[in-house]
Amino acid sequence: MSDLEQRLEELKDRGLYRRMRMVSGPQGPRVLLDGKPVLLLCSNNYLGLADHPRVREAAADAAMRWGVGTGASRLVSGNMTLHKRLEEKLADFKGTEAALLFGSGYLANLGVIPALAGRGQVVFSDELNHASIIDGCRLAGAEVFVYDHCDTEHLAWGLEQAGERGALIVTDGVFSMDGDVAPLEEIVGLAREHDVRVMVDDAHGIGARGPGGRGTVAEAGLEGEVDVIVGTLGKALGSYGAYVCCDAVTSRWLVNTARPLIFSTGLPPASVAGALAALDVIATEPRRVEKLTANADALREALAREGFEIAGSTTQIIPLVVGEAALAVKVAEAALERGVFASAIRPPTVPAGTSRLRLAVMASHSKDELREAARVLSRAALAAGWRPGNGMPMAAAQDTHPAPYYDVPRAA
Ligand SMILES: *Cc1c(COP(=O)(O)O)cnc(C)c1O
Repeated sequence: MSDLEQRLEELKDRGLYRRMRMVSGPQGPRVLLDGKPVLLLCSNNYLGLADHPRVREAAADAAMRWGVGTGASRLVSGNMTLHKRLEEKLADFKGTEAALLFGSGYLANLGVIPALAGRGQVVFSDELNHASIIDGCRLAGAEVFVYDHCDTEHLAWGLEQAGERGALIVTDGVFSMDGDVAPLEEIVGLAREHDVRVMVDDAHGIGARGPGGRGTVAEAGLEGEVDVIVGTLGKALGSYGAYVCCDAVTSRWLVNTARPLIFSTGLPPASVAGALAALDVIATEPRRVEKLTANADALREALAREGFEIAGSTTQIIPLVVGEAALAVKVAEAALERGVFASAIRPPTVPAGTSRLRLAVMASHSKDELREAARVLSRAALAAGWRPGNGMPMAAAQDTHPAPYYDVPRAA
């Protein structure tokens, strides 16, 4: 056995082995998964725009008019009129001076964090932030203070310790695996007090939260107060790519320093046009955003009736925390056998001992589908030998950031 095969076996033994499943056809509320019809309950296509006729048509038209690829980085010859149109539209949507497109949300975080913090400085990062933020922090070479999840007292303590070296607070807007919302007002207050920048990754907020789906920053009434809002075009907007909303100076700084923007090919016209059309659909059909919220409430209620504990979720992301990785996989498999696709999320995506089924609601689900899903999940839990409520509570979450990550000591 080669070293890699051996390590793959180890992953299997620990319930951490991953493989890809295959969806045939578009990303609707029901899909064919490995040839079998299932209810899709783990897609971030929250508003049903990835398969919306207007969005598809816009993407197809753009490919016919402008071609498939951009042929170069946007700093060379890959910057096209469409990119500018989407950037203007996103800035307008988010209420910022400027917006800048990136290849993906992952790449945006890899670019922005090192552009705003470096050696000798300190970045403050919520312990449950997305992996791309963790990687952005690593690339930045700054010291990282990982504060307890949404714990603004811990954050305040870290800011005091760092003093002049504090540079940037970074947080998910909606936490991607927990579905709770960051305490943005307190975070912005602390940032002002300590003269550091704030960056909010609103990958799961755009299209889902706030007035007209403008995101968590708008929801908290903080438009104009957050230095950088990162978001993706790949989730509620149904396309691919990402954006950074900020002021004009920060945008020019990123054009000059963010390496994933400088050294990578510009977004293809079809993705850009798809996102433009998606923003139009959100503006003309605001009911979609309301339907998403109502659907999330309906699923939470149905799950509660089945005896599930939903932890702190207040959004379209609803985790069923199982505990051990292998058990979470067993529950997910039992659900799949019964026609519900909700994938098991395990370390390192979530802290050890908090493996879960991460349910993602879509506006395109019907209430009946969601109620039926809750019943199926309950039967799946039973079949897998998991008694909901006996899962490891969220408080037992260990730190997702690996140990050497703490350079500033933590509060006792
Ligand atoms: C999905 C996600 C990303 C990555 O966005 P992509 O466009 O898919 O690369 C970044 N941050 C958060 C919080 C996410 O959930």
